[in-house]
Order: sequence, then C-alpha cells, then structure tokens
Amino acid sequence: MGSESLAHVLLISFPGQGHVNPLLRLGKRLASKGLLVTFSTPEITGRQMKKSGSVFDEPTPVGDGYIRFEFFEDGWDDDEPRRQDLDQYLPQLELVGKKLIPEMFKRNAEQGRPISCLINNPFIPWVSDVAASLGLPSAMLWVQSCACFSAYYHYYHGLVPFPSEENPEIDVQLPCMPLLKYDEVPSFLYPTTPYPFLRRAILGQYGNLDKPFCILMESFQELEPEIIEYISKLCPIKPVGPLFKNPKAPNSAVRGDIMKADDCIEWLDSKPPSSVVYVSFGSVVYLKQDQWDEIAYGLLNSGVSFLWVMKPPHKDSGYEVLVLPEGFLEKAGDKGKVVQWSPQEKVLAHPSTACFVTHCGWNSTMEALSSGMPVVAFPQWGDQVTDAKYLVDVFNVGVRMCRGEAENKLITRDEVEKCLLEATVGPKAAQMKQNALKWKEAAEAAVAEGGSSDRNIQAFVDEVRKRSV
Ligand code: UDP
Repeated sequence: MGSESLAHVLLISFPGQGHVNPLLRLGKRLASKGLLVTFSTPEITGRQMKKSGSVFDEPTPVGDGYIRFEFFEDGWDDDEPRRQDLDQYLPQLELVGKKLIPEMFKRNAEQGRPISCLINNPFIPWVSDVAASLGLPSAMLWVQSCACFSAYYHYYHGLVPFPSEENPEIDVQLPCMPLLKYDEVPSFLYPTTPYPFLRRAILGQYGNLDKPFCILMESFQELEPEIIEYISKLCPIKPVGPLFKNPKAPNSAVRGDIMKADDCIEWLDSKPPSSVVYVSFGSVVYLKQDQWDEIAYGLLNSGVSFLWVMKPPHKDSGYEVLVLPEGFLEKAGDKGKVVQWSPQEKVLAHPSTACFVTHCGWNSTMEALSSGMPVVAFPQWGDQVTDAKYLVDVFNVGVRMCRGEAENKLITRDEVEKCLLEATVGPKAAQMKQNALKWKEAAEAAVAEGGSSDRNIQAFVDEVRKRSV
C-alpha cells in the first residue's frame, strides 16, 4: 500500500535533543503500526538532523507505514542568539507555528495526504489550539516520568504543599509516590530556582491539558504501576515506552540525532565485557571547569576504563568551553576515550559497558533501564533530581553521586572514585546489575506484541483511524 492511502499524523517537536528523540521514536512506532507520519520541527534543527545523516528526503518505510519530514522556518536568522533564551524563543515559535502549521495542513490536503491528528511534545502547548482551529484531534507526548507529570500536576493545581519561600525545606507527599524530600522534587518548582522560565515552559502544557484527547507517555505500566493507575483517573494518559525500542523496526536508519555521533563502538569492541564506565550528561547540561576536573581525576584514580562525552557548548549559550586537565589523555592511555557525541543507545547496549554516569535526564534514564545498565546518578536540575531518586531508591539500579541538584556543589574526586567503584565492583554492583536486567526484560515485554505499551500504541492508532474517517 502506498504511503498516501494511510491515515496521516503530524508530529510537531520543540527543537531540543531530549524532545526530538522521544517524539521521533514515537513517530516510528506509529509508522510501524501502519500510519503515515510527518515529523516537523524548525528548519535549523532539521538541517542539523540531515547533516548527521539520519533523516531522508523521501518517505521512509518503517514497519507497515512510513515516516517523512517537513521542517518549518522559525523566522529568525541562523545565528540569532535569542534562540538560546526560552522566554524569547517560545513566543517566537508560537507566532510562526500558528501561521505555518495551518499552511502545512492545507498543503498536505491538496497533495492528497490529509492530516488527521496533531501531536506535540512539551514547551509548545499551542499546537493543540492549532489542531482545534483546524477541527482536528490532538495528542501530546509527555517526555518525562509519570511521577514528574504528577508532581507538576499537583503543583499546578495547588493540590499539596510544595517548598515555598516561607517553608523551603518541606518534604512533599504525592499520592501513590514515595515521600520526596524537598531536594527530590523537580527543581524548577523550588522557590529559588534560577530557571523560572523552564518552570513556565513546562507548566504551560498544564493550562492546555483539556485539549489533547490523549497524553502519551514515555514510561511503561510495569515501571510506574501505582502512579500510572492514579494519574489515569485524572487525565487520559497512555504509557507507550520505552519508545527507543521498536521491535518492528529495530534497525531503522531514521534517527533524531542533532549532533553526528563519533565512532566509539570499535574501541568498545576492544574492551573486556562489563569493563567500561560511560559518562554523559545529555544535551543541555554543562558542568563547570572545577567539577569537570574532579570527574577527570576521579576517573583516573579509580583505574576504570571510561568513555566520556564532552560536547562543545553552543557559542551563544554562555557556558564556558571546558578543557581536560593537562596530560589527562596521556595518563589515561588506552583506558580512556573522550568523544564529542556518542551513539548512546549502542553504547548502553554494548557488552563492554559496565555502568552509566548520568545526569538522569528521562531519556537517558529510560535508555539505561531498558538496556539493563546500572547508573551513577549525578542530577543537575529539573526532573533529573526526581529521576535520580527513583533510579536509586525505587528502581534500585543506582548509586547517588550527590543529593538533590549538583549544579552548585562540588563533588570531589574521592567521592567520584568511590561511586565508580561502588557501581562496578562487589556485591552491591552485582545486585544493581541483576535489578537492571529485570527492568530490561520488563521493558522488552512492554513493547513486544501484546505487551502493555504495544496495546496502548495500538489503541491510540485505532482511535486516530476512527477519528480520520
Ligand atoms: N544522547 C546521545 N549521545 C550523547 C548524549 C546523549 O545520543 O552523547 C542522547 C541520549 O541517548 C538521549 C538524549 O540524547 O536520548 C538526551 O536526552 P535526556 O532526556 O537524557 O537529556 P537532556 O538532553 O534532555 O537533558
């Protein structure tokens, strides 16, 4: 069957790696079930995705359906520094998106590919308004845990007390969740957060939650059973994760990389099983130089082999360009490899990888759990602090490198070394590996045909088809 006779959904993504990856993965899962999926994000990001070689001009078959790309101009020059400031960029995206997406809708209808549903991810809740104005159903993909969704939901609706200026250190008890210490609540909700614009961006979605007919979630039933059940009674959620596992198209060449990954698999191949520590802090976290140095010496002193991602900051981000301590690479020798960007999914699935030192972004968290990979949790801010709590105390696959936000602390080389050894050697490390392997099994079962996430995806696809006739 040609792509044009299939029900067609349009996915609109905020242009950040942590947003593009899960939405594109969702797109591939929907395509696998026989939909035509168009993925869209601003042109500047689209060009980077094309450059990394994982996006194609023609509709690409994925399972029983197809995925294609249509990017849109965000109205700013490529070197516009205001893109780095969400308070300025989000209104700009809304302004152009509200004009260009209806045009995209019209163009696709004229070309014989009528769109029957719009799906967005966080930061761009106005996509549901565009859908409503076009008479289309909409859905959104929540890209964090269900626990974090609940924390923001309760905060937004004022349902339980959160830390405030008067009471900055109160613990928070949310229904069906373990008690969160004040520093385990998503840190954009702290009264003193230096990122109020991120709090506004995330909570923006909650003002529009009555519009999407479904909130798809990058989680799975077996991972967060109680909280998923609880939130299901309040909002129309469907957990569909882990999205990066796609049994119908496991090796699809369509990917969401904004940066081209450096080759490090051959180097991993040369290492013994479970011998390499993988260190990466996602796409937006940048550490300070003194913390970088402590990690470098912690790695050297521990004697472990390591693969370390050192991504360069955007020139307008205000982050300092980090350097490695003098003579670091020579001292590490063949035990260490530093890259600018890694093929993380492959690294986590590699038999030589022993554990993952992570900032606990939710994509990294899901990728680690679903790959059976123990972690050293080093959360910097936002939902990462809550994810770290879950990784260590609920999922039982991690050791903590610090409590709460690490952003303004200095974790010493001795602490780094201690955590690396705790996660790689001895009975605790072995137990964490066992636990992680159980999560891998549960994740695979959830996405396998007939599993909980697979059933939810199928139900969503059936609903889209029903609404498109
Ligand atoms: N990632 C990658 N290579 C790297 C670092 C990160 O492919 O060297 C991917 C990773 O697999 C994940 C995403 O980038 O899918 C980062 O998302 P996450 O939610 O973990 O963190 P964020 O970047 O949003 O803070």
